[in-house]
Amino acid sequence: MNVLPKRYHRIKQVLEKRQPDLTVLTEDVHKPHNLSAIIRTCDAVGILDVHSINETDEFPTFSQVSQGSDKWIFLHTHPDIKTAISYLKSQNFSIYAAHFTEKSLDYRHIDYTQPTAILLGAEKWGVTEDAAELVDGHIIIPMLGMVQSLNVSVAAAVILFEAQRQRLAKKMYDTCRLNSDRYHEILFEWSYPNLATAYQNKGEKYPSLGENGQIIQENS
Ligand code: SAM
Repeated sequence: MNVLPKRYHRIKQVLEKRQPDLTVLTEDVHKPHNLSAIIRTCDAVGILDVHSINETDEFPTFSQVSQGSDKWIFLHTHPDIKTAISYLKSQNFSIYAAHFTEKSLDYRHIDYTQPTAILLGAEKWGVTEDAAELVDGHIIIPMLGMVQSLNVSVAAAVILFEAQRQRLAKKMYDTCRLNSDRYHEILFEWSYPNLATAYQNKGEKYPSLGENGQIIQENS
């Protein structure tokens, strides 16, 4: 059955605002509700890919907190923080650790319109020393109260909405930022998730879609 035109156009609208050069890397954020809240914020800001490492081997399952947003985000897991950071660097990302050190800059002083990854640390012990040394800089959200840190998902939201503000000002949401191949691939997968799996299993290319999302060409 074809996707409903209304849903298809909504998917297109969302995909056309996704920012492939803005991402988050979580280092052992292990509480499912925190990870889910981060993913939900990423969806709202227009992030498509989230990177994660989890030394416990078990990836936290999503809770109701995500409100289904995990369906619209690609979660990439890496075996360890070094691998994750070198992968992001190879993709031209500057990586900023949300981390408390003497050299931390106010998070508003970063140019998030450049390819940027935000590293967020674990609930209890924060960003590891290894990771802190490998990144391009440290950022901090000024804390003026009695408590020394924010919940990790709150910190993510504060920083990511500053990134969104800067990108809106630069009109980076006004034209589609995904390359055409990835755009069409994801458009099909989000419109026809079950069919997409069937095509993948057969090793076949996805068919083309018509103006309202109807499948117009079956591959032989
Ligand atoms: N005791 C930990 C520490 O010293 O880093 C606190 C960890 S905090 C609850 C979890 C993560 O949230 C941190 O690693 C950091 O990435 C982020 N975070 C929380 N508050 C922040 C703030 N004010 N500025 C920057 N990042 C913050």
